[in-house]
Amino acid sequence: MQNPATSTRVYLASLGCARNQIDSEWMLGRLQRSGAVLVDEPGQADAIVVNTCSFIEAAADESIDTILQLARYKQTGACRRLIVTGCLPERYRQEIVGAIPEVDLFLGTGAFDRIAEAVAGTLCASRCILPDPDTLPVAGADEPRQRALSSMAYLKIAEGCSRRCTYCIIPKLRGRQKSRDAEDIVAEARQLLHSGVKELVLVSQDTTAYGHDGSGAVDLARLLDSLARLTADSRGECAPDEPADFWIRFLYGHPESIDDAVIQIVAKHANLCEYFDVPIQHAADRVLRKMGRRYSRSDLHRLIDRIREQIPEAAIRTTVIVGFPGETEKDFETLLRFIEEIRFDHLGCFTYSDAADLASHRLGGHVAEAVAAERMDAVMYCQAGISAGNNRRYLGRSLPVLVENCVERGLYACRTAFQAPEVDGTTLVRAGSLKPGCFQQVRITEAETYDLMGVPE
Ligand code: SF4
Repeated sequence: MQNPATSTRVYLASLGCARNQIDSEWMLGRLQRSGAVLVDEPGQADAIVVNTCSFIEAAADESIDTILQLARYKQTGACRRLIVTGCLPERYRQEIVGAIPEVDLFLGTGAFDRIAEAVAGTLCASRCILPDPDTLPVAGADEPRQRALSSMAYLKIAEGCSRRCTYCIIPKLRGRQKSRDAEDIVAEARQLLHSGVKELVLVSQDTTAYGHDGSGAVDLARLLDSLARLTADSRGECAPDEPADFWIRFLYGHPESIDDAVIQIVAKHANLCEYFDVPIQHAADRVLRKMGRRYSRSDLHRLIDRIREQIPEAAIRTTVIVGFPGETEKDFETLLRFIEEIRFDHLGCFTYSDAADLASHRLGGHVAEAVAAERMDAVMYCQAGISAGNNRRYLGRSLPVLVENCVERGLYACRTAFQAPEVDGTTLVRAGSLKPGCFQQVRITEAETYDLMGVPE
C-alpha cells in the first residue's frame, strides 16, 4: 500500500535544546522512511513542522514567533499543512489550539511517533493530540534518524525527569525518567561512529541519574565504560597523549548523582572528555531548598574537590539562575563568592522565568526583573574575568582539537575536549587546509575571554 506521505515535501524547524534536536532528527528519519522529501527552504514545502520549546517564557515566545512566521507560507508558498510538535502544545494544551488557528495539528511530546500520519493528514479529526508522554518509549537504535551534524552527534540516553525542581516544567512535559537499554545505546553509538561521527555527546534531562529509574538499565559509569571501549576494541588501548579516534562527553549532570564511579571512569579512559557539566543553579542553601535541589553549598564544594582531586585538569561547566523568588542580596553575594572560589571553566547564567504553572510561582519574595538582570550582568562580568584567566593557562600548550568547519579562508572553527558544542567557546585555528571531522594537534597561540586561537603542530 502506498503511504500517503509519499513525495510530500517537508520542512522542519527545530527549536530548543539538544534533546529537542534529537527528537527532530527522529521525526525527520520517520518522515523520510515514509517517503516524504525533506527540503531546506520553507517556501518549497507542502508541509511545515515546528518542533517547539517552552522551557521558559522566552523560549515559548520564540516558538510562537517562529510558528507565525512560517504560517505565512500557507499564503505565499506551497504549504498546505502546518504542524506544531513538542513542548509548546504539551504545556499550553487547548489554550494554544484556540490562540493559533493557522496551525492544522498539534502533537505533544508523547506523539512524536505519529509525525508521518500527521503530515499525511491521516490522523483523526482532533487538532491536538496529547497522549501521556510516559506511554511513548524512548526511540531506540533501530529508529531512523536524519542527523543535521556530521562530526558530532547527540545521543539521548533517557527521556523525562523524576525530580521536582520547583522552577522546572520538564517533568510535566516529558514525564518521569525512562532510561534506554544500555545495549541499545551502544548499538546506536556504533552506527553513529560507523557513519563518521567523532564526538558523541550523551544527553538526557538528568544524565547522571541514568539507570536510576528501576528500568533495569546499568548506571552511567558502566554505560560510559562500554562506550569508551568501542575504540579500544577496534584499535587497541589508546595512548594517553594521542588524539583519540573519537570523544565522548555527557551534558546535564546533577550534583546529587555524580558519583565517584563516574569520575573514576572518566579518569580511566582517554577518549572520555575530562569535562563535567554540573548545573548547580545556586549556591545559597536557602535558595537551593526553595528550588527543590537537595544539596548544600558544602556538598557542592565536596563534589568539585572530588572531581579535581581525581582529575586535576577537569573542565567544569555550570549554569545558575539569579532572581529566584526569595533570593536576597545576601544569597546573591553567596552565589557570586562561590563562583569566584570555584572558578568554573564555563558558566551560563539565566534570570528566573516565572509562570503560573510552576511550583516556584507560589513562593513569596519575587525579585524585580531589573534586579535579576543586574545580578545576571554581575555574574557574567565575574565569569568573563575567570574564563579569560582560565584560558590563559593554555597558552603555548599543544592540544588535540576536533575540526568543525572552515569559517573563512585559512581559518577553522575547532573544539578542544574542554569545549562542548554550542554552549562553550571554540578554538580558531589558522591553517592552509584542515579537514572538518578530523582531529588535529594544535599549539595555542592566543587566549581570548571565551575562545582560543591556535596553529597546527
Ligand atoms: S533535574 Fe533538571 S529537568 Fe529535572 S526537574 Fe530539575 S531542572 Fe528540571
